[in-house]
Amino acid sequence: MIPFNKPFLTGKEAHYMYQAVYTGKLSGNGFFTKKCQNFFEEKYGFKKCLLTTSCTDALEMCAILCDVQSGDEVIVPSYTFVSSALAFVRQGAKIVFADSMSTNPNMDSEKLEALITPKTKVIVPVHYAGVACDMDKIMEIANRHNLLVVEDAAQAIDSFYKGRPLGSIGHMAAFSFHETKNIIAGEGGLLAINDERFIRRSEIIWEKGTNRSEFFRGEVNKYGWVDTGSSFLPSEVIAAFLYAQLESMEIIQNRRKAIWAKYHDGLKDLADREMFFIPEIPNYATNNAHMFYLVCRSFEERSALIQYLKEHEILSVFHYLSLHKSDYYIQHYDDRSELRMCDYYADCLVRLPMFYELTNEEVGKIISVIHDFYQHNW
Ligand SMILES: *Cc1c(COP(=O)(O)O)cnc(C)c1O
Repeated sequence: MIPFNKPFLTGKEAHYMYQAVYTGKLSGNGFFTKKCQNFFEEKYGFKKCLLTTSCTDALEMCAILCDVQSGDEVIVPSYTFVSSALAFVRQGAKIVFADSMSTNPNMDSEKLEALITPKTKVIVPVHYAGVACDMDKIMEIANRHNLLVVEDAAQAIDSFYKGRPLGSIGHMAAFSFHETKNIIAGEGGLLAINDERFIRRSEIIWEKGTNRSEFFRGEVNKYGWVDTGSSFLPSEVIAAFLYAQLESMEIIQNRRKAIWAKYHDGLKDLADREMFFIPEIPNYATNNAHMFYLVCRSFEERSALIQYLKEHEILSVFHYLSLHKSDYYIQHYDDRSELRMCDYYADCLVRLPMFYELTNEEVGKIISVIHDFYQHNW
């Protein structure tokens, strides 16, 4: 069976973890944590980076930093992972869901302004599959209405919008190192702060509401409880694992992009015949090959394709169910907006296997099984 995902190990993870263990500094914010944070600050120009135990945690920190309170409204795409909404719900926000574009699942910035009310506080663009949302348009709307922008860049490591790294454009951003992402730590995340006003408070929230980081830098002579917060930082063992991955980022990204290009070349003829569509990468965006997906013509066709691939020992998967139709949202909110494009992707999108160790031969097999399916079945 060709799996859908297989976590890739560079070979140095255990070595660095061993180092972390035997230097005796196991809690967070040590040698490897700093190395990882510096890596991101230097490579992408984020003003301040803090490792977190997950992207969900980084998003929760964003919700606290944006001072989201009961009754505030936060605009989130409905076609996304639960965490993009949940982090703000925990602060008491009302979630207002945005629909996707027809050309890809990202939030439709043309329809964004209609969702803004006097209670709106934050917009959360999610860069689906690592492909940029239209950030100029989103930032222009946010600035005009005095709103904060939190980029959910969970899938968007090492991807760009008009040459600018994703995660560097909004006021702050959250990345994920979950084992299903390009760069992994098992579970892990990163908060990137771009607006300097939020830096000091982010460190305090990260360290359980204390000014411990300032104390260790010698800026204050004692530390204590100064704000809200939680234990958002991972242990050095996790950071050590992550650092090994970051060192190999280029080879990981290059291999994934090569797999993506092979899929694209092999399936383009079927897309040209309109059997399905392969979402185009907008001119303003790059592709970090987080995911390769097709959008089928119907729910039935997608189910049949997934089944057919499974019969041929290939695991493909659909993705998000519309959050605006989730049990939680229905129970807690009375907004019953129709989000047509979101529902379309929920019904018709299928993701193909994508991982470093996927061989060219396997990609070739997947392409030919998909050709067979459309020849014989639909
Ligand atoms: C993976 C993912 C998350 C959650 O990341 P965790 O690190 O598992 O918390 C959030 N948002 C999006 C868009 C994701 O793809």
